[in-house]
Amino acid sequence: MHEHLCKILFSEQQIQSKVQELGVQITSDYQGKELVIVGILKGAVVFFADLIREIKLPLELDFMVISSYGMSTRASGVVRILKDLEKDIAGKDVLIVEDIVDTGLTLSYLKDNLRARGPASLKVCSFLDKPSRRKVTLDPDYMGYTIPDEFAVGYGLDFAEKYRNLPYIGVLKPEFYEN
Ligand code: 5GP
Repeated sequence: MHEHLCKILFSEQQIQSKVQELGVQITSDYQGKELVIVGILKGAVVFFADLIREIKLPLELDFMVISSYGMSTRASGVVRILKDLEKDIAGKDVLIVEDIVDTGLTLSYLKDNLRARGPASLKVCSFLDKPSRRKVTLDPDYMGYTIPDEFAVGYGLDFAEKYRNLPYIGVLKPEFYEN
């Protein structure tokens, strides 16, 4: 385990089997649909890369890069789109892939934004969920694991851009994020 972590939440093996499970479910639900998978960078990149290889269907990929405006506007759920989708999603079956749903504000804003573009369907797949922190109603349609209110890193999740490449998910020791 990385020396900055106090515990491991999910091992590589646990992650792999959960991703396979999600892939099977999505493969069965999207038979015959025009699936577009939208990855939210950067956090979702590792999960995204694993998940798409477990979906045994023709599909298209697209990406968005977003950032929240900062503390004051974060409460309103406004996020800034730093990179938008390249393709039109009107009439397509869109699945947003996210790393973690916390307050739900980011995804709630993104769903409204993408819904306005007229997709045939719009769903969310998040690897982690922290329902205890939710500020708006948002239930991911596909979800890997629920976690308590702890700061998770690894498997794409960062703290100050570090730890994204850890192949497992763990909790950072408080001394590494309290200064
Ligand atoms: P929300 O808008 O749901 O509050 O925020 C979602 C975003 O906050 C995630 O995409 C992620 O970037 C960040 N986030 C929330 N909880 C955690 C966490 O436990 N660890 C890390 N690394 N990022 C988190």
